Amino acid sequence: MKAVFIREQGDVDRLTYGDVPDPVPSPGEALVRLHAAALNHLDVYARSGANRVRVGPYPHILGCDMAGEVAQLGQGVEGVKVGQRVVVDYVIKCGVCDYCVLGRDDLCRRMVNMGVHVAGSYAQYVKAPFQNIHPIPDFLPYEEAASMPLVFHTAWHCLVTRAGLQPGETVLINAAGSGVGSAGVQIARALHCRVLVTAGSDAKIARAKELGAEAGINYTTTPAFSKPVQDMTGGDGVDVVFDSVGAPVWEESFSSLKVGGRFVTCGVTAGHMANLHLGRLFSRGLTVTGSGGRSRREFNDFMRLVHRGALRGVVGRVFPLEEARAAHKLMEDRDFFGKIVLRIP
Ligand SMILES: [Zn+2]
Repeated sequence: MKAVFIREQGDVDRLTYGDVPDPVPSPGEALVRLHAAALNHLDVYARSGANRVRVGPYPHILGCDMAGEVAQLGQGVEGVKVGQRVVVDYVIKCGVCDYCVLGRDDLCRRMVNMGVHVAGSYAQYVKAPFQNIHPIPDFLPYEEAASMPLVFHTAWHCLVTRAGLQPGETVLINAAGSGVGSAGVQIARALHCRVLVTAGSDAKIARAKELGAEAGINYTTTPAFSKPVQDMTGGDGVDVVFDSVGAPVWEESFSSLKVGGRFVTCGVTAGHMANLHLGRLFSRGLTVTGSGGRSRREFNDFMRLVHRGALRGVVGRVFPLEEARAAHKLMEDRDFFGKIVLRIP
């Protein structure tokens, strides 16, 4: 089959388009004929080795997000049929560790990530445990479907589970132009929340408003964005801040929280070291929480809204699989809105 793989970690030139053997499903696994794969920052880390991400045996096929149709079933597979249109959850849980048996599989001690530890989605075929395979509605194109799993799963986990976002609350979402940011805007709107956003350009703010954001602040021209956030919330601040940017926006994010507010992070795309004002943390009853992994239950939860058409993938650019280098370069340049998708031949 055709695939994009690396033989060692490094810059975009390490991405090689060529032929590799077809995967063969083991018992409990299904083979999926992929039609689209979407890029995430994790792909860039897996390719480059940044943030100490180490990948599986070489040649290694990158890619965590994917959509296609079930092509073949291994022994003992239940609940999926050949020909079914599906997306694949890229995180494989062990099912038997103490976290898994306690229903906290988001923290599974032995999780294996497709695209990182084993072969991923930049390929015509992939094999996956049947528990990781989820049907998609007929109205959802493959390219849009591929753009959804990782970012919506992450945003749901952060906003609903970790931050406990409640209907009617006000949420500030940083980097609204990012995949996880635009997913967060839609989830918060589906929960009837008031959504404020920050982004690096006015064009990205305009797109976020189309997805349901009420107002946005350009943090390039207005780096001290907690002031307008306070102004827009009657001086209170927001209930929840959802961030994936990290250090450069930490101080202003923290200052945007109302008393009792919750800050949740799922990424540090622009820096990971920050100062925490412990006095304000305790006296204002604030919560600062991380993301960690995501649970199978949360995947089912957000997919219910996908089947109703309440959440839609935001595809920014589509490249043919063989142009994965150009797609990675665009990902690193950050000059796009929504998800970068690879169309698989
Ligand atoms: Zn486990």
